[in-house]
Amino acid sequence: MKKLLLGIGLACSLLSADESCITAAEARTHVAFLASDELKGRDTGTEYLKIAAQYVATRFEGWGLEAPNGSYFQDFGLAGFEADPDSAVRFETPEGTLALSLGDDFNLLNGSEAGHFASLPMVFAGYGISAPDEGYDDYEGLDVTGKVVLVLRYTPEIEGAFEGRRGQRHAWFQAKIEAARERGAAGLILVTGARNEGGDKFVGFGGSQDGFHRAGEGETPIPDGFPAIHLSRDAATRLGEACGFDIFASEAGIATSGQPQSGPIENARAGFSVGVRDNPLMTRNVVGFLPGTDLADELIVVGAHYDHVGDYGDGPDTIHNGADDNASGTACLLEIAEALSHSGPLRRSVLFIAFAAEEMGLWGSRYYVQSPLYPIDKTVAMINLDMVGRNATHQLEVHGAALSPGLDALIEAENSEGFTFAKPTELEGGSDHMPFANKDIPFLFFFSGFHDDYHQVGDHVEKINEEKIALVGRLAFRVLTRIGNRDNRPARLGKRDYH
Ligand SMILES: [Zn+2]
Repeated sequence: MKKLLLGIGLACSLLSADESCITAAEARTHVAFLASDELKGRDTGTEYLKIAAQYVATRFEGWGLEAPNGSYFQDFGLAGFEADPDSAVRFETPEGTLALSLGDDFNLLNGSEAGHFASLPMVFAGYGISAPDEGYDDYEGLDVTGKVVLVLRYTPEIEGAFEGRRGQRHAWFQAKIEAARERGAAGLILVTGARNEGGDKFVGFGGSQDGFHRAGEGETPIPDGFPAIHLSRDAATRLGEACGFDIFASEAGIATSGQPQSGPIENARAGFSVGVRDNPLMTRNVVGFLPGTDLADELIVVGAHYDHVGDYGDGPDTIHNGADDNASGTACLLEIAEALSHSGPLRRSVLFIAFAAEEMGLWGSRYYVQSPLYPIDKTVAMINLDMVGRNATHQLEVHGAALSPGLDALIEAENSEGFTFAKPTELEGGSDHMPFANKDIPFLFFFSGFHDDYHQVGDHVEKINEEKIALVGRLAFRVLTRIGNRDNRPARLGKRDYH
C-alpha cells in the first residue's frame, strides 16, 4: 500500500506536459467507440473494421503524423479460401450410398486443400494424435496409407495427459491434418465427439496461414492436395448406422480405457469431390510515422491490434465487443501517439501501427514484417500493447523484458507508476510482437492479464480500467522516448526460433 501511494505521488510530480495528455478519460473515449455495439466486434474483412481503421487514421492525421508512402493504410490480403459450392462427399456402405451436402452435413476444415477420389477405404484413428510425450498414440500399428482417416475433434480424456498449452496443441486442426498426411493418408474426416458439450458447430473455413496473396488475384481453383472435412455428428451417426461402426462408442471406449481404439472401418468407403478456390480477404494495417532527427534511419515500432472476433453465436448478446482485446491497446497506442506528436520528434523515427487480423493469426504483423515500410534491420525495438485495460491497476505483465536486459533496465527506471511487473522468461502470449521477435528485434509486450471475459461477449467497455490504460501509456511513452533518444540501439535478441 505504501509503495502504491508513493508510486502515484511520483507519477504526478514527474509528469511532463506531453505525458499529461495521456489521460484515462480520453482512453475511455477511444475504447467506447471501438468497442461499441455499432462496430460489431471489429471482425476482419467487415465494413466495421474499416470504420475502426478510419477512426485511427483520422487521429494520426489530426496529430500531424506522416502517412508513409502517402497513405495511412497498408492494405493486404489474407490467404483466404472458400469451398467450391459443388463440393460433395459420399460414403459407400452395405446399406447403399450416403450422399452428403456441403454446409449441412460437412464443411471444409481449416487447412484443407482440394481433393478428388471416388472410393477409398476408411480407417478410424481415434483423435488423430501421435503424442509420445503424453504416452498416447492413435497411429501406433495403424496403416493409413491411401486411406481416408476418421478422427475425433479435441484430445482424449485421459487423467494427467493433454493438459495445458503443450497438451492442447495436439488438438489443432493443422496438427491432425499433418499427422494424417505425413503417414500417407488420402484425406481426413473430423467429427466432434458426443462427450463434448460445446455443441456441433462447423468452424469457419478460412484457408491456410502459409503465405499472403496479392490483392485482386480473384477466385482461382487450387490444385488437389490433402482434403480435410468436418463431418456433422448427425451425418456421422447416419454413417455409423449404415456401416456398423459407431464412432461415439469408440470415443467412450478411449475415455474408459485410456487407450487408443484405432482400426479399419470395414464396411465403408469414402468418395470426395472437394474443391477449394482462392479468395483473398482484404484488410489493412493503419500506420502513422514520426521521423526522427539525427538517427532518423533507425526505427521504433509501437503496435496494437485493432481487430477482434466479431458478431457470432447464440443468445441475447452475440457481439464480441473486445473492449480489452484490443480496444484498450489501440486506445493506449493512440494516446501515446498524441503525446509524442506534442513532444516532437525523437532522435530515432517512430512508426505507430494498428494491426489488422491479429485474431486470425497475427496476419497484420506478419504482413508488416514481410513487407516492411522501413528496413527491418534498422528497426531497433518493438512495443506491443495487447489487452492493457483489466485487472489490478498496478499489476502488469511485461513480456520481452526478461529477454532484453537493456529494455528491462528502462522499464524499471521509468516505473514511476509503481507497477509490480511480471516478466515471463519464455516467449508466450502469441501477439503482434512475435513476428518482430522472430527477426531478433527486441520487444516489450505490455499485457494486463487474462480474465473471464477474454474472447467472450462480456468484454465490455463498462469493465475497462481506463486508469490502467493511461498509466501503461505513460510508462510506454517514457520508455519509447528513452529508446528513441539514447546513443545506442538495444541489443538484438539472440538468434532463436520462437514458433
Ligand atoms: Zn489481443
